[in-house]
Formats: sequence, C-alpha cells, structure tokens
Amino acid sequence: MKKLKLSLKNLNIDKSWTLFLDRDGVINKLLPDDYVKNWDEFKFVGGSIDAIKTLSGIFGRTIIVTNQQGIGKGIMNENDLDDIHSKMLKEIENNNGKIDKIYFCPSIAEENSFLRKPNVGMALKARKEFPEINFRKSIIAGDTISDMKFGFKLKMIKVFLSENIDICRAYPQLVDFSFKDLKEFSIEL
Ligand SMILES: [Mg+2]
Repeated sequence: MKKLKLSLKNLNIDKSWTLFLDRDGVINKLLPDDYVKNWDEFKFVGGSIDAIKTLSGIFGRTIIVTNQQGIGKGIMNENDLDDIHSKMLKEIENNNGKIDKIYFCPSIAEENSFLRKPNVGMALKARKEFPEINFRKSIIAGDTISDMKFGFKLKMIKVFLSENIDICRAYPQLVDFSFKDLKEFSIEL
C-alpha cells in the first residue's frame, strides 16, 4: 500500500539521506510477550540481512534505534544486549551490509525517557554524532505506531512494516508508505 501520491522513487534517495531502522519486528523476529535476551533467541526476519545490504548501499547513513526495556526491567543487562548486537553486526557485515551505529533506550515505558521512542532523544543523539544527518532527508522504518510517531515528530518519511495494514489505516497521518517487511521496502527504492 502506498498512501502518498509520490512513490519512494520520486524521493531520489541518495547518500545525503539517512535511514533510521527499528530492530525488533523489523530486523529480527518478535518474541511474543518476551524480549530477545541472548543470541540464541535472536532470529533474523527472512530477507532482512539482504535488505540491509541493499539499503545501506543507497543511504548515506543507516542507524538502528531500538527500545530495550528488558534492561530496565532487569530481565537482561547491557552486556547481554552488546553481545547480541556485536553478533548481529557481524552477520550483517559478512553479507556486505553496514550499520553506522545502534542507539538503544534501556528505560521502562513508565519512565517516559526522552530517549525512548516515540520520544526523539535517540535521533538527536545520532545527529550530534553524525552532524550531516538531516531529518527532512531521513526515513524511519518500523513495525509500530510508536516508530511512526517518532518519525512524525522529526518530520521524517515514515515507513510502516507489517503484514497488518489495518494498523496504519487507523493512523493515516502517521504513515507515508507501508510494506510487508524490510525486504519488500528495499526492493521498492
Ligand atoms: Mg519494533
């Protein structure tokens, strides 16, 4: 489903653009009612590694922004997350993909941390580290409305990735494009 009149191709995405990627449900499969606490529990969504190779070849920067409240809840710790991320990056790099940086928010939802999506703190951190980032030339790709709100606040292009398009029909102003998954999005560029 493409909501806007323009197609993604009309955006003329090049190396001056940044891709912000959600992790859970986009790069790796969601665990129902649980958090991915170790590498054994981390399973790539089919096609996502190849999609990252394609996308990171198109965008200037590819950045992951991920809420990880399993840490704030004490179910896992930052070392567990670091280990998952270093192994994930290795797989991605082995397939010639590139992630410039991963930002995560360990806080539980109730704390309403500025870093936790839909708040924009992780994006501001990224722009501080990579000053060439222009949010008007950025895409957020995620599988929740929280990701879309994050992008909306920053005036990014918002790409909703889900098999369930009823969700984005309920929030038409928050979703610019929607695709089944990262692979389908990557083919569309
Ligand atoms: Mg997600």
